[in-house]
Amino acid sequence: MAGVTAALVAAEIHQIPTTIVYAGSKPTDCNSFWAQGGIIYKGLENVDSPALLAKDIHQAGAGLCYDPAVQKIATEGSDRVKQLLLDDSLKGAFAHVPFHRNDETGDLCLCLEASHSAPRILYKADHTGRVITEQITMAAARHPLITMKEDTIVTELVMQQGICIGVKILGGETQYASLGVVLASGGLAGIYQHSTNPPGFNALGSSVALATRSGAETKDLEYVQFHPTSLLVPNEARFLLTEALRGEGAKLRNVDGEEFAKNFHPLGELAPRDVVARGVFDEAQRTREVVRLDITHREPEWLDQRFPTIQEHVRKRGLDLAKDWLPITPAAHYTCGGVATDLNGCTSIPGLYAAGEAARTGLHGGNRLASTSLLEGLVFGAAVADFIGNGRAIKKETASLIRNCENNLSVASQNVYSKINSSSAQNSKIQLGRPSDEVGRLLQDLKQTMWDGVGVVRTHSSLSAAIQALQVVRERAEILYRDEPSRETVGLRDASIAGMAVASAALSNPVAQGAHHIVAND
Ligand SMILES: Cc1cc2nc3c(=O)[nH]c(=O)nc-3n(C[C@H](O)[C@H](O)[C@H](O)COP(=O)(O)OP(=O)(O)OC[C@H]3O[C@@H](n4cnc5c(N)ncnc54)[C@H](O)[C@@H]3O)c2cc1C
Repeated sequence: MAGVTAALVAAEIHQIPTTIVYAGSKPTDCNSFWAQGGIIYKGLENVDSPALLAKDIHQAGAGLCYDPAVQKIATEGSDRVKQLLLDDSLKGAFAHVPFHRNDETGDLCLCLEASHSAPRILYKADHTGRVITEQITMAAARHPLITMKEDTIVTELVMQQGICIGVKILGGETQYASLGVVLASGGLAGIYQHSTNPPGFNALGSSVALATRSGAETKDLEYVQFHPTSLLVPNEARFLLTEALRGEGAKLRNVDGEEFAKNFHPLGELAPRDVVARGVFDEAQRTREVVRLDITHREPEWLDQRFPTIQEHVRKRGLDLAKDWLPITPAAHYTCGGVATDLNGCTSIPGLYAAGEAARTGLHGGNRLASTSLLEGLVFGAAVADFIGNGRAIKKETASLIRNCENNLSVASQNVYSKINSSSAQNSKIQLGRPSDEVGRLLQDLKQTMWDGVGVVRTHSSLSAAIQALQVVRERAEILYRDEPSRETVGLRDASIAGMAVASAALSNPVAQGAHHIVAND
């Protein structure tokens, strides 16, 4: 989402030729595709305002948000949604997303989510991310100045004299970028045993790993948001059960069938996300049994219409929203921190930008308000493109550094690079190494370590033990990558670096706030 937005704004508004590289086989292989709830737009004038949205974001962020980032989202967000997702102009260079509309008036429908003071969220049933991602990537794919390269995994940032001038791709190719490299490679919640993030080369911490290997600053990595309700089916990846279920009255029940949410917070199921996540976690620990989510009080037809994707998913597993209490667990969901940027997406490295879940602008502080992240991708993706397009990026130095690199390469007859905007589309299909048992096992160990030691509740000793275990994985991952660079070894190496970064950030912050819940050793 963030990367495609940056590319579209750069290409359409600033006429900058842009290349999007992505690890999946289609641009929709990403977290954005799986967003269920929606994207913040704006509520009706008499009930909502940018100031009210800003207040909600600050409150969710446990008082740790950076106000200028919050103000930017609150004041610019709805215009960006209109420009980029509700484009009904003749040219239609951007996306026109079929959000849910009132049958009679044709007006956009707005829904309310937990911790929002007003209905202000655009949605499409329970698959909003799918319709947004499909429409915006179609817009990028048809743009003449945008090149899209699938199955293309970035393994390194190319640095010259402290400036980022391109990226190295798995398989050996180098992509140079004379105006800048934008890291929009998502978060790291996929490195946890229980995660709502889709499997594949996704959310394995590439953004943090690439940035830290090149010395870019990261911030707030200890604030990993855990979602309270993901479907717990043994031997399967977790699947998100959206907050909207609880918004529609779903209850949390323990093994004895008791509603227990009011025991941990007066707002019960609608308490802030991190509070509910800890409530579910603690109840499962206390009873040593699985906690369940119950929305069986709603009509079957209504459930089919309101939550079609979830209903289909659970039915395939022999369950039914209308009849069954669903087994759940909290799961890592979102990375509030990331590669530190200013409001233009500039990182601490000249030539390197970051946007979306990869970036830490300070918007989320200690925790994220529901449905802010798709909007963040739009606003900050566009901000990077505007910054570069308005001529504020470092052009001259980069261009001459790239020329030097290209000359050196051609002298050595190593024609292994391609230039951004090159019309000769090089074959970027990567060589997929055979996943070795060891790589798979190490990734599994790493995820378990993150869950056990750097999870919903942390202690000083759980974090220290996790760091020790992660260090072992990290050293081995470097060797495995060096011996056989492959999709799997790149993922393991990035995950181990990102995991260490999160655990270290958590250990160095003794204050329990927001999603970082650190308690005294027991
Ligand atoms: C199940 C679920 C439900 C959600 N629901 C909502 C919601 O309702 N509303 C909301 O606002 N947010 C929601 N979120 C959060 C939101 O979806 C994400 O925060 C947001 O989509 C992140 O967008 P992004 O563009 O930063 O990253 P992504 O959409 O994750 O895209 C990152 C891209 O980078 C690629 N990549 C990663 N590493 C590399 C590499 N080394 N080389 C090349 N490519 C790489 C990936 O393949 C991917 O294509 C949800 C998240 C999940 C998982």
